[in-house]
Amino acid sequence: MRTCVGCRRRDDRSVLWRVVAHRSEVSGPVLIRLDRQQRQPGRGAWLHPTMDCLNQAIRRRAFARGLRVAAEVDLGELTAAVRTAQVEYELQGVAAKGAADDRRKRVQR
Ligand SMILES: [Zn+2]
Repeated sequence: MRTCVGCRRRDDRSVLWRVVAHRSEVSGPVLIRLDRQQRQPGRGAWLHPTMDCLNQAIRRRAFARGLRVAAEVDLGELTAAVRTAQVEYELQGVAAKGAADDRRKRVQR
């Protein structure tokens, strides 16, 4: 079980995303990236891949705190990935609901 840095709810790591800070030698914002394999070394933070949890984490500056980043964090790449995942998830939900409706119709006939 891991705690989402957005909503602070605990959940299984299979439904959470692990994110890590991508440190570089140049100064400037630290890029926060998705660790898809969930095994990159170093400190990680866990997040539900939803815009709600992402926005809560941003408001709370949870990434900088959780990943021990003193500099600004660049969340552009992560935000785009979460947005894409959420759209895909919603499309799947619509498709699943459509299939369930079809089954109900068949039962009624
Ligand atoms: Zn969450």
